[in-house]
Amino acid sequence: MNRLRILLQNIKRGVVTEKYPLEPIRVPESFRGKPVIDVDKCVGCGACVNACPPNALTLEEDLKEGIRYIKLFVGRCIYCGRCEEVCPFDAIHLTKEFELATTSKDDLYQIVGLRMYKCPICGKPYTTIRLVKRVIDKLPPEERSLVLICPDCREKITAANRSFARR
Ligand code: SF4
Ligand code: SF4
Repeated sequence: MNRLRILLQNIKRGVVTEKYPLEPIRVPESFRGKPVIDVDKCVGCGACVNACPPNALTLEEDLKEGIRYIKLFVGRCIYCGRCEEVCPFDAIHLTKEFELATTSKDDLYQIVGLRMYKCPICGKPYTTIRLVKRVIDKLPPEERSLVLICPDCREKITAANRSFARR
């Protein structure tokens, strides 16, 4: 009798098993899969790099070529979503992708290269052109000149101004 009831219940419920991998599997709305950087939006600020607990995100600079690289290695990612939370430019998102098996480790990298901005005083590249443009747009005109020089030169100028004011 019990078995008959179970059978009837199952007929009523219908098929509950998934046909994956023969058919794509549905994942929950809040699923946290592979993070992806939007190369058009990323400015190379490094906020996600500082927030990433296992260092799946790193920042490297080629000062000779004047390029900053934001590197995402999915092989280290723990899918915590901190990068997505902290990015001020909405440029990194966790996707619903989870099928990441590969025969080459290189497939697990996403590398974004951004041209760097050089300090007009010392000539040293210190940030990205994109970031400078984004910051400049938000600042009042009288404060813009200070952003356009590197922190070292800014410090020297500030120190020189201070000692001039004391005289
Ligand atoms: S999801 Fe977490 S671990 Fe993965 S890249 Fe973002 S911050 Fe790093
Ligand atoms: S925080 Fe956003 S804009 Fe900044 S480097 Fe990361 S992805 Fe790019």
